[in-house]
Amino acid sequence: MLRHEEAEARIAGKEFDVCIIGGGATGAGTALDAQLRGLKTVLLEGNDFASGTSSTSTKLIHGGVRYLEQAVKGLDAAEYEVVKRALHERIRMLHNGPYLSRPMEFIVPCFDWLTVGYMGMGLKLYDWLAGEARIFESRFQNREATLRDLPSLKRDHLVGSVVYADGQFDDGRFNLALAKSMVEAGGDALNHARVVALERSSQGKLSGVEVENPLSGKRFAVRARVFVNATGPWADALRQMANPDAHPRMRVSKGIHILLPLELHRSKSALLIPKTEDGRVLFAVPWFDRMLVGTTETEVSPDEALKVTREEIAYVLRHLNQYLETPVRPEQILSGTAGMRPLVSAAGTRKTSKLARDHEVELDAKSGLISIMGGKWTTYRAMAEDTVNAVQKQLGMGISEAKTKDHRLAGSEGYTPEFSGRLAEAFSLGANTAQHLARKFGTRAEHVLELTRQNPELAEPIAAGLTPIRAEIVYAIREEMAMTIEDVLSRRTGLQFLDWRGARNAASVAGSLLGKELGWSAETERKAVADYREKITDLLEAAGLPETQVTPEAIARN
Ligand SMILES: Cc1cc2nc3c(=O)[nH]c(=O)nc-3n(C[C@H](O)[C@H](O)[C@H](O)COP(=O)(O)OP(=O)(O)OC[C@H]3O[C@@H](n4cnc5c(N)ncnc54)[C@H](O)[C@@H]3O)c2cc1C
Repeated sequence: MLRHEEAEARIAGKEFDVCIIGGGATGAGTALDAQLRGLKTVLLEGNDFASGTSSTSTKLIHGGVRYLEQAVKGLDAAEYEVVKRALHERIRMLHNGPYLSRPMEFIVPCFDWLTVGYMGMGLKLYDWLAGEARIFESRFQNREATLRDLPSLKRDHLVGSVVYADGQFDDGRFNLALAKSMVEAGGDALNHARVVALERSSQGKLSGVEVENPLSGKRFAVRARVFVNATGPWADALRQMANPDAHPRMRVSKGIHILLPLELHRSKSALLIPKTEDGRVLFAVPWFDRMLVGTTETEVSPDEALKVTREEIAYVLRHLNQYLETPVRPEQILSGTAGMRPLVSAAGTRKTSKLARDHEVELDAKSGLISIMGGKWTTYRAMAEDTVNAVQKQLGMGISEAKTKDHRLAGSEGYTPEFSGRLAEAFSLGANTAQHLARKFGTRAEHVLELTRQNPELAEPIAAGLTPIRAEIVYAIREEMAMTIEDVLSRRTGLQFLDWRGARNAASVAGSLLGKELGWSAETERKAVADYREKITDLLEAAGLPETQVTPEAIARN
């Protein structure tokens, strides 16, 4: 990718075949598909790539065990189709982003034989639906094997577990890899480029957009023959900007996750909690050296400021602790995420947890705006395919075949599971650092590490006790359009997901590297660091977490 200022200069005032608005999974996936089909494409993201929902998911590449149950119980054909399609897309994501994704074993603990039968049958159906795209067959495991694989599990009345396969992925970096791959295929992409107004031709069709860079205040126009609205939870705002008579379609539901030290989980497998009070499921999944636990589901407005609250933490821990031998306490939480599901609904009456995770491509006849709404991360590629078909139709050309089915993403070139070992050897790295870099950057990790050869200080960790290194920040600015402290600490290095307090400590290092690379004044740097620290302090406060990390010894004493 180009640096932000270079990309902005290339795009401002230019004309494209198609302009995709929104740089989450849906928009970046659609932009890649359009560019690979030979359309001159531009992707505009108002904040950062993946700054919306797409970096706050449970990070599962799945059909959805709960959605299958809903489909069967409710005889819901739409839901059934989503599960089936997602199970087939699952294998493509694992193949196309091998360094960003991996198969994972999920353990469903059973405390009576009825549950063994019910879950066992349900998961056999899940296997059958996946067909050829199956990862491995689900199976029953006795009590001993269950406790060997998940030693933190509650022992009382445990009879065994049903084990099944799904995938896990790095959502924020996968999103970025889509945008990078699109640029490497000859397209243009820009973050911090918010669409604030629309221009129309004399027939009332959209002909251009006015874009604002919220960081600099600079405004410019972009023209295109077709516009795609891929703004996820915010889709109605753009639909109504294009056509004030458009009826709202989005139902937005908030979901949170908490991150805990992995030592509390002591397993490579994920735990599925099969039933919550509100009839959902909950996951506890290993994520780097953390355990990611979630999620919740509460209907909200898309304008809601998203923070993890004490009540949501209490809900998650209440369910998790029913399954653990040693209960987890809120003081042990290291960080969290909150996101919004962009669900699409015609009737607007069902609870959001009951809405199918289906997607819909809508053409607004008046303005010509194509909106892609709903869906889930796992189906982003299929959603993109349907959207680009609609774009080609709107352009009056024949529909060509999507080229994304087996298009390997940027960073996958020459990648094998042994890559992190080779990296460790070539650059004399510890295994943790090598694995972190390989999982975040794929084979581009070599480019990150080249920076440490030029400047050994960049091999230092960004924050004491955490794995990400300073060179990642410099690389992210030069090659991945990172422009703010949050861009680098949250979506590029993942440090903010590992540890809120650590991220707050890392703000000055990140601010100083950004300042040097982007030519910030001392005042701009000071303000950026202060604002970021304040944001993290607010997150800790909303979650009811202490200012400083409570030591394991202090927890044991209380
Ligand atoms: C808690 C939670 C857990 C989930 N877990 C999973 C999971 O495990 N697996 C799975 O498959 N799915 C999961 N999902 C669903 C999945 O994350 C979403 O379906 C997907 O990320 C939506 O992507 P999107 O691109 O449509 O929306 P977003 O990622 O929100 O992207 C929309 C983008 O549009 C931008 N934008 C808005 N307005 C403008 C404008 N005017 N100009 C320019 N840009 C604009 C925003 O800044 C944003 O980046 C989960 C969702 C949630 C909330």
